[in-house]
Amino acid sequence: MNLSKYPLKSLRERIEQAENILVTTHVNPDGDAIGASLALVNVFKSLKKKVSVISPNELPDYLTWMKSAGEIINFELKPDIAKSVIKNADLIFYVDFNGIDRLAKAADYFQNSTAYKIVIDHHPNPESMADLTISEPGIGSAAELVFEFVKQIGFSDVLDKDIAECIFTGIMTDTGNFSFSCAYPGVWNNMAELLSYEIDRDRVFSEVYDNYSENRMRLMGYCLNDKMKIIPEINSAVICLTIKEMDRYGFKMGDTEGFVNMPFSISGLKFSVLMLEKDDHVKLSLRSKGSFDVNLLARKHFSGGGHKNAAGGEMPLPIETAEVKMIEILKEYNAELG
Ligand code: 5GP
Ligand code: MN
Repeated sequence: MNLSKYPLKSLRERIEQAENILVTTHVNPDGDAIGASLALVNVFKSLKKKVSVISPNELPDYLTWMKSAGEIINFELKPDIAKSVIKNADLIFYVDFNGIDRLAKAADYFQNSTAYKIVIDHHPNPESMADLTISEPGIGSAAELVFEFVKQIGFSDVLDKDIAECIFTGIMTDTGNFSFSCAYPGVWNNMAELLSYEIDRDRVFSEVYDNYSENRMRLMGYCLNDKMKIIPEINSAVICLTIKEMDRYGFKMGDTEGFVNMPFSISGLKFSVLMLEKDDHVKLSLRSKGSFDVNLLARKHFSGGGHKNAAGGEMPLPIETAEVKMIEILKEYNAELG
């Protein structure tokens, strides 16, 4: 992938001259958000730049092993420190998101900053929220885009095993462990290149996928056995979880990661949604197989967005009402889903 359409030369000068670089990513960060952000952070550190990193909220345990993860400032937990870091930044990178509201409670503070801002993202239809937007929706992960960016801007010399592991994690998680969004040769060439840094692929896999609690496994069983509703006429699956049910299984951030994909092992299934009860809304994870566009669905009905086959959003309703409404909305798409 060629990034020569972006002004990389002047951006390189900006990076070299910056006093305080700040990297941030979207709320409820996943493997790609953290992998891509920390890859960039570690590159800047190796270049001897002063760099900070903010996450709008907590990151899941399965990502805390990555290099510099301990330096991530959780805006929700340490708002005062985060606000002062935002105020002092002169160069800000927005990684893996395409709309300012994805910064949740931190959004206003970032918007008020006068720093030069750069988006590095792979979601379609980026909002205009930065001075420079490097947006490549054809690429499977923001981490792979960061890899290309680092190489093409001329910082390859500092790439090492730790940075390669951050990038690898982003690619692995945003492609569902190489099951989607990776049907193009470039990503496999990049994989081969990353392996040449002698990353410990097996360990990275285990850190991400084999690091959950027994409780999480039981919650998964409960979801599949008791909670998954299949609506055969629209080839759809709906899983709803209440706060009470999550509490029963000692729910921790990240525990429901991947649950929304499980129904797709059922033959012919085209759509799946995971609905999680929060204090004042229901958080949605939407997935599809094939041509049904959940990004459009999320934008139209659920104040959200994402990619064609993976998106998110929310419903400002009690969970029972939200479930009924969800099924009603899905039935409107009978022509596409049926
Ligand atoms: P997940 O369901 O794994 O949380 O998110 C799937 C995809 O949708 C990711 O690309 C994520 O960034 C995006 N996404 C999730 N929730 C929202 C949301 O509320 N708004 C927008 N615009 N995108 C979301
Ligand atoms: Mn991503």
